[in-house]
Amino acid sequence: NKQVVLKNYATGFVKDSDFIIKTDSTMSLKVPESSSKGVLVKNFYLSCDPYLSFLMQKSDSSLEAQFSRFSLGSTINGFGVAKVVDSRHPKFEKGDLVWGITGWEEYSLIAEPDSLFKIEHTDVPLSHYTGLLGMSGLTAYGGLFEVCNPKKGEKVFVSAASGSVGLLVGQFAKLTGCHVIGSAGSRENVHMVLYCRVDLLKNKFGFDDAFNYKEEQDLDAALKRYFPEGIDIHFENVGGKMLDAVLLNMRMHGRIAVCGLMSQYHQEKPEGLYNVASILIKRLRMEGFGVFDYLHLYPKFLDLVLPQIREKKITYVEDIAEGLENGPAAHVGLFSGRNVGKQVVLVARE
Ligand code: NDP
Repeated sequence: NKQVVLKNYATGFVKDSDFIIKTDSTMSLKVPESSSKGVLVKNFYLSCDPYLSFLMQKSDSSLEAQFSRFSLGSTINGFGVAKVVDSRHPKFEKGDLVWGITGWEEYSLIAEPDSLFKIEHTDVPLSHYTGLLGMSGLTAYGGLFEVCNPKKGEKVFVSAASGSVGLLVGQFAKLTGCHVIGSAGSRENVHMVLYCRVDLLKNKFGFDDAFNYKEEQDLDAALKRYFPEGIDIHFENVGGKMLDAVLLNMRMHGRIAVCGLMSQYHQEKPEGLYNVASILIKRLRMEGFGVFDYLHLYPKFLDLVLPQIREKKITYVEDIAEGLENGPAAHVGLFSGRNVGKQVVLVARE
């Protein structure tokens, strides 16, 4: 059983050398008889998600109690898509396709499969359950609709808009009739093609406009240019300077969903915010959330999104790295803008 294991705690940006590939030749392809609800799965696809880097850090911060970090020598685990090979759990049978928390390895023995969900709809690509129909989709849906309550005509700003969550937030907001602008990184040489995330947002994902935050000297001025009357809803994926500039540009009674802090995860000391007074003065609502807060909405989410996928009204892009051994580099690439759309690792074909 080939596995991706944590070799070193991550300091600063996570590096390929923080991982090691190991083979466990002792693994049995049966759930042990001592387990009352274990499930053994064969992994097909793994999802590269920024939060994994956070779990790879050794930290004594006060957040520690809420997150279970990886220990040195342990197999990385995260969201993925798999097939049940053996089960002692009443909810799962051999042959079931599932998505949820699994290991970065060929086969995973999951003792408590509370975060594993059966896949009922297989007329869409299975890999979509790593993102669009899995965590990224539900995050975009929960954060936008539950936290921000968007209304037709409202002005929405999405940071890290070409990422797996951001590109869906933008499209969900457009489906609601909002005016949507996103920020993304620069033109880079990705996969030997000159490719521009800002063009992708405007021409492929249907954003009304987009700008390259790396080319803006003054983020406040950039936001004023794109939102002369201010922002009603902001979906925050990066934090730091961007969030600070957004606070200045929010309208009265605006809503901010704090989904993630992409620019802060590698910082030992996160950047401060200077414009917090805007929250008070403009009567803003700023709310953090986690995707697990919205698991109960998954069926409702599927009702909205599956028809949109089938009718090709949602555009989604996946960047698939082939082979478990290429997983570490694919994950590291999330922080340098290497991926185009959702970064997935193909472990085995269905
Ligand atoms: P992706 O890896 O798909 O995309 C992340 C994007 O972040 C990249 O496209 C990159 O775009 C941008 N980025 C990378 N570094 C920086 C930086 N220093 N400053 C600004 N932008 C940066 O991530 P997801 O879409 O899956 O996740 C987006 C955010 O949502 C993350 O913060 C993640 O932690 C959070 N999240 C939160 C969840 C929750 O439950 N609250 C669940 C899932 C995700 P570019 O190169 O264009 O800058």
